[in-house]
Amino acid sequence: MMVVNNKMRYALVTGSSRGIGRAIAERLARDGYSVVINYKSNDTAAQEVLQKILQEGGQAELLKFDVTSPTAIQEAYTNWCATHEGAHFDVLINNAGIRRDGLMVFMEDNDWADVMHTNLDSFFYLTKLLLNPMIRARRGRIVNITSISGVTGLPGQVNYSSAKAALIGATKALSKELAARKITVNAVAPGFIATDMTAELDESELKKTIPIGRFGQPEEVAALVSFLVSDEAAYITGQTINIAGGIG
Ligand code: NAP
Repeated sequence: MMVVNNKMRYALVTGSSRGIGRAIAERLARDGYSVVINYKSNDTAAQEVLQKILQEGGQAELLKFDVTSPTAIQEAYTNWCATHEGAHFDVLINNAGIRRDGLMVFMEDNDWADVMHTNLDSFFYLTKLLLNPMIRARRGRIVNITSISGVTGLPGQVNYSSAKAALIGATKALSKELAARKITVNAVAPGFIATDMTAELDESELKKTIPIGRFGQPEEVAALVSFLVSDEAAYITGQTINIAGGIG
């Protein structure tokens, strides 16, 4: 049984072995949260994030599970609760996501389903599980990482735009259910951010379409998330904040 400091605030960041999730995990650890790093398969990358946070004097642990599997989510959460008696998550960042781009006429059923399961269904199954303790504590912060693609719609991303737009709708609806319980629910909609997900894109061409003229950095998204989960952001809920260099 892990020794749990009941005053410690726990933050679960899905998909935090790499990219935007990693930057959020590192930032929340610096903000004083005990960070739970979720990922699907990349053990080496997840270990790197964990070691970096620990070396900087922060608190963190790994929690490997596939966000597309309700059973895996339930098992991981049950095991975490069993080893952290009396603790719960104050902060949930639904960040894990994938894209499987292609024009809709050529889109395979799997490309639709995989994107829906990872970007949208995961929100439902995981958030539902973590909500009860937040409601009892009358405090909580949920941030859903959507995309400018869900705000404007992008060609070649009918699956991804649909999932991310649905996440924005879910954010608005859930925020109204939870507002009286002092739990805020917001969405962050990045544009082009330099991560593995955008690594094969032609930045020199695409940056011409971005008013600020460059891709964003994961740390810039993390700074926004850090503010949204802070006490100072208690009056902001149900919002989608674009962080896209002027796109949208
Ligand atoms: P990334 O670099 O490709 O990293 C994806 C992360 O999600 C990894 O940690 C990966 O874990 C994890 N993951 C993927 N599928 C998972 C699953 N089924 N279960 C658990 N973890 C899973 O992506 P990113 O660019 O940081 O994107 C993060 C979020 O921002 C996504 O929701 C994405 O849609 C959104 N977004 C990104 C951009 C952008 O330009 N990069 C723009 C708008 C929105 P493993 O390491 O184990 O594979």
